[in-house]
Amino acid sequence: MKSSNYIAGQWVEGTGSFNNINPSDTSDQIDSYTSATAEQFEQAVQAAIKAQKEWEKVGIEKKSQILIKIGDELIAKSKELGELLSREEGKPLAEGIGEVARAGQQFQYYGSECLRLYGERIPSTRPGFQVEISREPLGVIGIISPWNFPIAIPAWKAAPAMMCGNAVILKPASLTPASAIELTKIIAKQDIPDGLFNLVLGSGGDIGNKIATHKDIVAISFTGSVDVGRKLYQDASPFLKKMQMEMGSKNPLVVMEDADLKTAIACAANGAYGGTGQKCTASSRLIVHENLYDDFVKGLIDNIKNLKVGHALDEGTQMGPASNEAQYESNLNYVEIGKGEAKLAYGGNPMNMRTAGYYMEPTLFIDGDNKSRINQEEMFGPIACVIPTKNLDHALEIANDTDFGLSSGIITQSLAKAEYFKQNIKTGVATVNLPTAGLDYHVPFGGRKASSFGPREQGTYARDFYTQVKTSYINSGSI
Ligand code: NAP
Repeated sequence: MKSSNYIAGQWVEGTGSFNNINPSDTSDQIDSYTSATAEQFEQAVQAAIKAQKEWEKVGIEKKSQILIKIGDELIAKSKELGELLSREEGKPLAEGIGEVARAGQQFQYYGSECLRLYGERIPSTRPGFQVEISREPLGVIGIISPWNFPIAIPAWKAAPAMMCGNAVILKPASLTPASAIELTKIIAKQDIPDGLFNLVLGSGGDIGNKIATHKDIVAISFTGSVDVGRKLYQDASPFLKKMQMEMGSKNPLVVMEDADLKTAIACAANGAYGGTGQKCTASSRLIVHENLYDDFVKGLIDNIKNLKVGHALDEGTQMGPASNEAQYESNLNYVEIGKGEAKLAYGGNPMNMRTAGYYMEPTLFIDGDNKSRINQEEMFGPIACVIPTKNLDHALEIANDTDFGLSSGIITQSLAKAEYFKQNIKTGVATVNLPTAGLDYHVPFGGRKASSFGPREQGTYARDFYTQVKTSYINSGSI
């Protein structure tokens, strides 16, 4: 047990105790942590209020340098921290290292963007007057993050929040606190006011709810499931907080008859099984033209048969375990549900490896009906279903028939079909001849329908959430 909460510029021990377990080897307990007490939470908020007032006056050059330094250190330590991340989350080491580097790139990017927080100045409709439109910080921001990207998501929220002059209270997922602690250590080293960045560990029902209901936390950026997002929104709504919520998905990958088969298979395998399917951008519905259907299914099965499942830190592992027991049990339950709804073409079984962990085979269902549960509910595991389609309009009808709208993709060699797909798909992200997952950090990210709520994350669009606009009218008089 150690002092795992960072509050008002101090590492402090909280109350109770919880552990994080390596999902690749459940005999490996990574560490024990304590939850922030109610008093510590209040201290964090009060310190954040004070620090934010100082921070907003710090010049943009210094802010920029601080953010870039955080990014540089994350990148320099990506191997070491990536190993820890893979140990606690279960993604293969290369993906763990890549995620830490991505967190670093986010800080570097917002360090540069910090010098470009432009406003506008335009003439008033009334002659002789001027109008200025400027952006100001919001104040104290609550960040609530999930376990599947335990360092990149806190980073892509905290970096723009700090760039825009705000203070941060971060509550990471209880399953993966180690990565958030390492991020906090790097931020804590910087020349920033005590309390500008606070790490408060604890359960969603306790600390998450405190973030929702504390009147001085004026905005919340949340990533997680739809059910928790809805509850959070209800709890926070009496306080009229600004909310940004990125939630679940059921992303379609459409494969047309003119697709390059190799590209289609590679994109489907990457999108469906990368990160053990635990990506909000994972492709779980593979909507394939009937003329290419059999070749696609055969090729995809050949591909996933060779996917090396294993311990996240073993060399050559391409797919790690499910991240936690609840997710693993849920995956196996969906396999059973799927057996009654479609044809199991590959996988579906738990796997015994050299260490005890939450391993299962990459799983493929075929001949699925889009109305079935496995094609409507977010499974968040290495399970995909192939659904036949007759033509592009039919494929779009299937693809859009979902409560979600995060990412989507089309594999085609026809520019016209790609354009038509982009124009008619109801998702926040659309890819052409690329997987639905694996996106850039300098452009907006977010979805539609139940997948997202509020302004976009990432890129320059992030400032729409982390700032508030002021319109000033100036009559400078005559000289
Ligand atoms: P989750 O169960 O919704 O938890 C997300 C966060 O919310 C955790 O920090 C959790 O804390 C906290 N929380 C739980 N109950 C809460 C409450 N009543 N009030 C406030 N906070 C509460 O999600 P998850 O299982 O960690 O992550 C998987 C989900 O995230 C999937 O649905 C996935 O699609 C989504 N996701 C979406 C995106 C996107 O950008 N759209 C990206 C990544 C993941 P505890 O950990 O303490 O329970």
